[in-house]
Amino acid sequence: MKHDYDIVIAGGGLAGLTLACALAPTGARMAVIEASPPQADRPPSFDDRAIALAHGSRLIFEGIGLWDGIAPCATPIRKIHISERGKFGFTHLDATEEQVPALGYVAPARDLGRALMARFDATGIAHLRPARLADFNTEEDGITLSVDSSGNACKITAKLLVAADGGQSQIRDRLGIKVRRWDYGHTANVSNLVPAKPHNNIAYERITSDGPLALLPMTDNRFGVVLTVPTAQHEEILSLDDSDFLGLLQERFGYRCGRFQRVGSRSAYPLSLITAKESVRQRVALLGNAAHTLHPVSGQGFNLGLRDVAVLVDVIAGALKRGEDPGEERILQAYASERQSDQRNMAMVTDGLARLFSNPLSVITTGRNIGLLAADLLPGIRHQIARHAMGLKDAHARLSRGLSIE
Ligand SMILES: Cc1cc2nc3c(=O)[nH]c(=O)nc-3n(C[C@H](O)[C@H](O)[C@H](O)COP(=O)(O)OP(=O)(O)OC[C@H]3O[C@@H](n4cnc5c(N)ncnc54)[C@H](O)[C@@H]3O)c2cc1C
Repeated sequence: MKHDYDIVIAGGGLAGLTLACALAPTGARMAVIEASPPQADRPPSFDDRAIALAHGSRLIFEGIGLWDGIAPCATPIRKIHISERGKFGFTHLDATEEQVPALGYVAPARDLGRALMARFDATGIAHLRPARLADFNTEEDGITLSVDSSGNACKITAKLLVAADGGQSQIRDRLGIKVRRWDYGHTANVSNLVPAKPHNNIAYERITSDGPLALLPMTDNRFGVVLTVPTAQHEEILSLDDSDFLGLLQERFGYRCGRFQRVGSRSAYPLSLITAKESVRQRVALLGNAAHTLHPVSGQGFNLGLRDVAVLVDVIAGALKRGEDPGEERILQAYASERQSDQRNMAMVTDGLARLFSNPLSVITTGRNIGLLAADLLPGIRHQIARHAMGLKDAHARLSRGLSIE
């Protein structure tokens, strides 16, 4: 049977659009379905949040040929400093010690989205937007998708459906894929600020008894701020005026970077962990947040999604080169088994850090500080933490090694 498309990607957020751009050179017939309207100028995730991109993610973007478009808005992270307010423990990671130009980069999600859209528009891949994948039916040799576009329903067929429809994935739910879900009871309050002293490309993770505070170096000597607060306090904190909010941040962070001068607009994200127990079903593959939604404590969610992209591209490009069907079970199983350990480990590590960094019990606080100090004194441990932060573990796919698929 001749299908309308080889691959349909449902969800044109960061993960879905990156996959489309990465697969463009294969010549596969593709469409991206995105629910948000073009007038909105961006899908919901292309907002003001600062995304920390690991060194490994830069390699993936280089492999896709996208890094040149992202580099102008990406600020290098040369050092990472982790400490606890008012306590003795701290540790640091240094790009020089790891012999890399930067441990990672910080780019506003809005600018990342812009760079992706510019490349995507040049590929000629069909963009069904605003359109919503309403339902689908899987058959032996393909999948039929019901697409709802401004009240008009149409049906299209494909060999493979990629679910890149985010943490609340309806595709995942419709398939009955079970998830592990944990509501942290915390909300991330996101903004940016200008400190009095230069940030010197250092990223800070400050542990406080109310939850972690991350400051990520950005252009124009700004820091991207992710302040994690108990959800019960979040409305009150969101309603503070700028000067009181700056005072709160200053109190939690201290004066290492001088007095905080200005703060930008603020937005809030309730935090939960969602991990899908399966990442493929017949003719469907889950990608990005649809497969795993993580706490932003170590800035790994999209980085993990990019490694999904790298592996999925490897298996699909290989199948297409051999003249095989990219939606075949064997191909999708190869993706699932290759991604399993990285997805599981990253969810475990991030979840562990989120709980550890938010635990006010004094025995945990003391252990945490001894751990930080030990990590700082032992280069072997520091190196392992740095490799984890740089996303260099499980980097086997061509794109993960910075190589193009052509
Ligand atoms: C506060 C915060 C800070 C973060 N910081 C970092 C960081 O520093 N580093 C990092 O790596 N990650 C970070 N993340 C995580 C990162 O933002 C996400 O991992 C990433 O945005 C997920 O992209 P996605 O494309 O998988 O999902 P989404 O961004 O959720 O995109 C899903 C898309 O699917 C569309 N959609 C949904 N349903 C349908 C449907 N039925 N039909 C058609 N379209 C549909 C939606 O409109 C949306 O555009 C952070 C997250 C938060 C909340």
